[in-house]
Amino acid sequence: MNHVELAIIGAGPAGLSAAIEAASVGVQTIVFDENQQAGGQLFKQIHKFFGSRAHQAGARGIDIGKNLLGQVAASGAEIKLDTVVWGIFEGNKVGVVTNGRNVICKADRILLATGASENVLAFPGWTLPGVMGAGAIQTMVNVHRVLPGKRVLMIGSGNVGLIVSYQLLQAGAEVVALVEAMDRIGGYAVHASKIKRAGTPILIRHTIKEAVGNGKVEQATIVQLNDNGNVIEGTERTLDVDVICMACGLSPLAELAWLAGCRFTDVAPLGGLLPVHDDNMQTSLPGMYVAGDIAGIEEASTAIEEGRLAGIAIAESLGYLTTTDATVKKQAVNDRSEQLRDGPFGITRREAKETLIRRSLET
Ligand SMILES: Cc1cc2nc3c(=O)[nH]c(=O)nc-3n(C[C@H](O)[C@H](O)[C@H](O)COP(=O)(O)OP(=O)(O)OC[C@H]3O[C@@H](n4cnc5c(N)ncnc54)[C@H](O)[C@@H]3O)c2cc1C
Repeated sequence: MNHVELAIIGAGPAGLSAAIEAASVGVQTIVFDENQQAGGQLFKQIHKFFGSRAHQAGARGIDIGKNLLGQVAASGAEIKLDTVVWGIFEGNKVGVVTNGRNVICKADRILLATGASENVLAFPGWTLPGVMGAGAIQTMVNVHRVLPGKRVLMIGSGNVGLIVSYQLLQAGAEVVALVEAMDRIGGYAVHASKIKRAGTPILIRHTIKEAVGNGKVEQATIVQLNDNGNVIEGTERTLDVDVICMACGLSPLAELAWLAGCRFTDVAPLGGLLPVHDDNMQTSLPGMYVAGDIAGIEEASTAIEEGRLAGIAIAESLGYLTTTDATVKKQAVNDRSEQLRDGPFGITRREAKETLIRRSLET
């Protein structure tokens, strides 16, 4: 493990897809992931995906994960689990802790596919046990099959907040209310309808004011907001809850890219500060690539396509694919990505991606 042609950090949909493309044409590939199971967020996603059949609509995240793992095994790429990458140094050196040992691995190419972290909301009482992120709740409920509580207040009406609410209801919890600060529901109407039908009120222009309890969450006070987003005094309501779930968006997990010295830019629709990348997913540092949520918060399906694009470009750069073959493969990926970045939600992301790529050309 002291030298490898391609080191991929993160075994989520982006990292696994890149490994499949690169290793299947001969690139010596190793994927590092800190978890005990590969698949990133996919194994938490027990619901069916939306979109077109070409993008695996109708399939559950968990099945997409199993399918990717089968393809990785056939490709010859190695996955090293329980392995944390803690640093990237000059000369494409990767600092790794594996089996309790610190190892420095030199890589000809590096792909950062580290995903995202959850945004949190600070309010009085936010450190009480029972205040949790939506990702943690998905892990508890869908992976470990443990309900974090019985009565939940959900904050945030994006797809994550809506889907996790539904999964909590399916698992037997009561979602007492969902509050949303904006004047509209952020996620797909189809997800919102399901939880409304189950009896959960979705309160737009509302937020949490505080959580109280003796050593754990026992009550939450919610409050209405005016059109400027300010609290309307006198509209406070107290709810008996034992869990407060925050689904307030994601931010790219880009510390390793900062550490390596990649150039960053701010593209709000994709989650804020991002390492710039070109149309091969290469960052401002030659030989260092990004794919998936670290390259802009989107979805598992776009993470898969970006991973594929990076894997193909890396194989081409190492001489495992001719330019002609790589161009054909990249075109197919780009066509699929374009379909994904369509519709009212997609267009904004497509324009933001174009901005990100354009900025990679600026000096
Ligand atoms: C609660 C929730 C619900 C979602 N639901 C959907 C959905 O229904 N449909 C959909 O399409 N998308 C959904 N998404 C989004 C989707 O899961 C992500 O867009 C997708 O997983 C991004 O893939 P990725 O490979 O970039 O990152 P991830 O899947 O997050 O994988 C990154 C991996 O890298 C590992 N890693 C990070 N840093 C290091 C390090 N330093 N060392 C070692 N390993 C590291 C992480 O532990 C993780 O395993 C959801 C996301 C969340 C949070």
